[in-house]
Amino acid sequence: MIIDGKKEAAIIRNEIKKEISDLKSKINKTPSLTVILIGDYAPSRIYVKNKKKSALEVGINSEIIEYPKSVSEKEILIKIDELNKDEKISGILVQLPLPDQISKEKIINAIHPSKDVDGFNPVNVGNLSSGYKSIIPCTPFGCLLLIKKVEKNLSGKHAVIIGRSNLNGKPMAQLLLKENCTVTIVHSKTKNLQNECLKADVLVAAVGVPNLVRKSWVKDSAIVIDVGINKVGEKIVGDVKFDELKDKIKAITPVPGGVGPMTIACLLKNTLECFKARQL
Ligand code: NAP
Repeated sequence: MIIDGKKEAAIIRNEIKKEISDLKSKINKTPSLTVILIGDYAPSRIYVKNKKKSALEVGINSEIIEYPKSVSEKEILIKIDELNKDEKISGILVQLPLPDQISKEKIINAIHPSKDVDGFNPVNVGNLSSGYKSIIPCTPFGCLLLIKKVEKNLSGKHAVIIGRSNLNGKPMAQLLLKENCTVTIVHSKTKNLQNECLKADVLVAAVGVPNLVRKSWVKDSAIVIDVGINKVGEKIVGDVKFDELKDKIKAITPVPGGVGPMTIACLLKNTLECFKARQL
């Protein structure tokens, strides 16, 4: 089975659109997402543009605030403080990566946890790892929704996650633990990666190494989620050798068209949740 992330993301976006329209007719308010973009790194510019377009399509007001690469950390912190206090703003996102003079840690800490649509603030990270209600980082959230499309009950399954980043690997592990999986995280220092991957009922690759996972690394019954986005020549490929695995295993996400569209759909989902939480 090839898991169609585009289709699943479209379903989620339609649900969000309907809910926002219903809320608007009830309370005459709509969610609002502000994205801060620093510098002129081309991929960031594309991501931010896509996020704004998708937000507007479902009825979320969206604004991009742009700064030159030379902007000071203080200026960004002042803007975040202003946005934190602005009742009209439901969600704040600062597009990563940041220029060297700006501390990622300080910026992530500055965004109020209730507006942290990326789920990176330590309060949200702590809530997630404690098993409490929290804002879930968009990419792992999207991965979990795709996995659950194939297998509703993950209890007792062995999940192997390749990669331990704060963005992907670690929150993915927390989400799968919450689903009662037995979770292994592997990384660049892991000995015998192939042996570890062969244990996986669910394998999530969030590495950034093109075509790392081969057919001989995966059980026939495995569900494989490929988070990787790697440019090889003019082509975008994942961390998994898709053509080798697609007819062999239970389910797999393609790249592109798998996890990518779900990431944005989950960002919209998080923005709506932040908005709703403020209305209580
Ligand atoms: P990252 O911060 O660079 O982390 C990569 C992880 O992979 C690290 O934990 C690293 O281990 C591990 N690793 C690197 N080479 C390895 C190897 N040969 N064997 C085993 N583990 C290895 O990357 P990230 O931000 O998590 O992103 C991972 C990939 O996902 C990238 O391709 C990125 O573009 C993509 N991505 C996709 C989406 C989406 O929406 N689809 C969203 C975000 C990111 P160490 O910790 O030991 O260094």
